[in-house]
Amino acid sequence: MLNIKNLAVNYGAIEALRGVSLDVKAGEVVTIIGGNGAGKSTLMKAISGLEPARAGSIEFKGQDITRSAAHDRVARGISQSPEGRQVFADQSVRDNLLLGAYLRPSSDAGIGQDIDKQFTTFPRLRERQHQMAGTLSGGEQQMLAIARALMARPSLLLLDEPSLGLAPLIVKEIFGVIRSLKESGVTILLVEQMANQALKVADRAYVLKNGEITSSGSARDMLDDPAVREAYLGKH
Ligand code: ATP
Repeated sequence: MLNIKNLAVNYGAIEALRGVSLDVKAGEVVTIIGGNGAGKSTLMKAISGLEPARAGSIEFKGQDITRSAAHDRVARGISQSPEGRQVFADQSVRDNLLLGAYLRPSSDAGIGQDIDKQFTTFPRLRERQHQMAGTLSGGEQQMLAIARALMARPSLLLLDEPSLGLAPLIVKEIFGVIRSLKESGVTILLVEQMANQALKVADRAYVLKNGEITSSGSARDMLDDPAVREAYLGKH
């Protein structure tokens, strides 16, 4: 579904990504693990079209999208839940969800059904649908960011650090949602510092270090890899 070859992204003289190649197949959950500043968010932004590629190529469903605009990538089926959530604070929960469907005509009867579907997945959002998004708790805002991304009916969902800054119980809940999305057939690329949780839900993983992929393999093998455990799981 997604095929990236030799991707490079720069911020001025800083090489944030170098020679990154990876692929995600339909129905897979793939995770990118790496420490602070490894380039994880930059990779997500390059895929969603928010940062330009300096070199390399990005193919989605067999089409070259390396130079496509961000809204064109959404229309093709790529939707991102960004790091730090970035919900529209002074809009209601319901309006945030409507904004997630901005590329669909507002007369689209499916939009109401999709909002209902998100409320079934995230019951707390239904209770708070008229509340301003900025007054939600961190965990609720994260749920809203994911639900908003799903409103575009993506075939590839990009999740950038969904557990960031959340209490363990909420993290568990978020990963439960990721697991059920996977079961419903959504293809997911997940960036996480909580490597342990991410590897438990993922099929495959890539390790990103200083802007380069240093290893890759099945999530199960990664969980058992002593080098990965030492560097990213805090266990020996
Ligand atoms: P974190 O987990 O801390 O968010 P990350 O793996 O997501 O880290 P990125 O945010 O992709 O890392 O950053 C990769 C590198 O690019 C870092 O060295 C960072 O300082 C640099 N960088 C990121 N955004 C910019 C920017 N807008 N301008 C200049 N440098 C940037």
